[in-house]
Amino acid sequence: MKVKKHRFPGVYIVIDDDGSEKIATKNLVPGQRVYGERVVKFEGEEYRIWNPSRSKLGAAILNGLKNFPIKPGSTVLYLGIASGTTASHVSDVVGWEGKIFGVEFSPRVLRELVPIVEERRNIVPILGDATKPEGYRALVPKVDVIFEDVAQPTQAKILIDNAKVYLKSGGYGMISVKSRSIDVTKEPEEVFKEVERELASYFEVVERLSLEPYEKDHALFVVRKP
Ligand code: SAM
Repeated sequence: MKVKKHRFPGVYIVIDDDGSEKIATKNLVPGQRVYGERVVKFEGEEYRIWNPSRSKLGAAILNGLKNFPIKPGSTVLYLGIASGTTASHVSDVVGWEGKIFGVEFSPRVLRELVPIVEERRNIVPILGDATKPEGYRALVPKVDVIFEDVAQPTQAKILIDNAKVYLKSGGYGMISVKSRSIDVTKEPEEVFKEVERELASYFEVVERLSLEPYEKDHALFVVRKP
């Protein structure tokens, strides 16, 4: 087994003895596992394998994402952080110099995140509603990136409304869109085009990527605030 750097800073490639490759992040809290992920040790460092079937961002990286604005030191507003599966890898990437403000509206789900953030102190959990960005104004500064995964019909509007308050000029948004959450009756392609049009009313749309085969009828958009 070997580990090498991915072209995105903070992301690694684990090459198993059979030659198969997986993506991974360097564990910021050695010994901590977050969602039963496989952990490997290489040259004194611990790496957590990033499972693309459990994380849309992991799926996007494996599908050849071109723009990954989350870097070591980034501050990230994460909408729909849930119990922290993807956010734990983002936490590894941004490191101790970075910070994640994670908004989640289910108290039950957020409770599962609490034991993780006790050690992973670069994540600030926030019980809040992403459709009401003013509600967490006292807790969140201007950020470099907003990542959104809330599976709600008004996803694009949620990103725009949060970007108006929290995103720096020139900052990036990343949004995972599930076409069925928006309109089950329409073809996914039609839904994605509508979402793209709405995003383009405020952002520059930098990239759109399908998350198949990991997630059916899902796309990930990367946008930039001018
Ligand atoms: N991003 C997570 C991951 O990959 O680990 C999974 C997120 S899950 C698909 C969507 C989450 O968004 C759920 O936990 C749900 O409770 C939350 N959510 C939905 N609507 C929300 C809203 N308006 N504000 C905050 N969280 C919301």
